[in-house]
Amino acid sequence: MNDKSHYQLDTLAVRAGQERSQFGEHSEALYLTSSFVFASAAQAAARFSGEEEGNVYSRFTNPTVTMLQERLAALEGAEACIATASGMAAILATLMALLKAGDHIVAARGIFGASQQMFGNIMPRFGVTTTFVTGSAPASFQTALQPNTKLVFVETPSNPLTEVFDIAALATIAHAAGALLVVDNCFCTPVLQRPLELGADLIIHSATKYLDGQGRVLGGAVCGGKGPVEEVFKFMRTAGPTLSAFNAWVILKGLETLKIRMQAQSASALDLAHRLEALPGVARVFYPGLPSHPQHALAMRQQATGGAIVAFEVKGGRTAAWRVIDACRMLSITANLGDVKTTLTHPASTTHGRISPEARAESGITEGLLRVAVGLEAVDDIEADLRRGLN
Ligand SMILES: *Cc1c(COP(=O)(O)O)cnc(C)c1O
Repeated sequence: MNDKSHYQLDTLAVRAGQERSQFGEHSEALYLTSSFVFASAAQAAARFSGEEEGNVYSRFTNPTVTMLQERLAALEGAEACIATASGMAAILATLMALLKAGDHIVAARGIFGASQQMFGNIMPRFGVTTTFVTGSAPASFQTALQPNTKLVFVETPSNPLTEVFDIAALATIAHAAGALLVVDNCFCTPVLQRPLELGADLIIHSATKYLDGQGRVLGGAVCGGKGPVEEVFKFMRTAGPTLSAFNAWVILKGLETLKIRMQAQSASALDLAHRLEALPGVARVFYPGLPSHPQHALAMRQQATGGAIVAFEVKGGRTAAWRVIDACRMLSITANLGDVKTTLTHPASTTHGRISPEARAESGITEGLLRVAVGLEAVDDIEADLRRGLN
């Protein structure tokens, strides 16, 4: 597959990036090797200086990881992609590569818990500060900009409240201020949303979630233009938050079924969201595919479906929410998401438990809130599991 532009996403997900060895293997090869050998001293020198392209050491590049990077870049319509050891490693590498002391970030308040920690508690020690914006109104992002703002960072839909951010509007605002727009595309994946086409500069992935899709490995990626991705690569090859070849291989195989999984899991999520809205113990359902979602129109313009994450608030606070969790016989009680097995989480006491109660309240993460990451089981069975603790 040399000219990727002719192929549709379905095809790219299965075939893009594959490079066969001299053995002509049909499935992508797994290159479990830490380093690579050279034909001569001169070749070793040329590889190290960068004069000759090729693998040197798996902290820099590895053929299995390269296949994954090319496949992901093709799916996101990106010039380049760098895979990392986890989603957080992708975020860290991006910040370290593109920012310096004195720079400023504007980030959405409701981003992933560890991302909030990274921006709010770790980066300030290195002189990089962040203004967190509450809500998704583009005007609030505009107001938060400073002359030293270098990055605008959002996750859409957000975790766990599925708030939708207008990527095109935020790209315009960021670019006018000379900043880059970074979008964490973990919840949608390129099957449902293509941020670069809407004007974003960089995409962050936690490949741990839907890209793998079966809860097996950690991984991450940064996709975007050659310039910034090259900077991320330079940081990564030196600092070492590199994706292992084995994990890259697992994620490559996961990508082959990404589209059918995202479609099936989104369809089930929409069905479940409608059913939850009709239940008396449920105060509110948060799902961008529902007409009751405040940003339904924007979501349907920007995304192919509402995604596979449904959040809902039960009446009765933490006691009622924990009762629903403890009554489940099938759903996995785990903080992970993006798996074919449906997972159930109480964000206030787990994923968002480490942030201050004030910040949590500001993010709208109440004690009665539950998050369901809908998998491939029958919707009837998922609903029955959730209803048991609601009755
Ligand atoms: C899980 C997650 C991350 C972090 O990814 P890891 O692979 O766990 O490091 C970042 N952003 C979002 C939206 C996530 O859900």
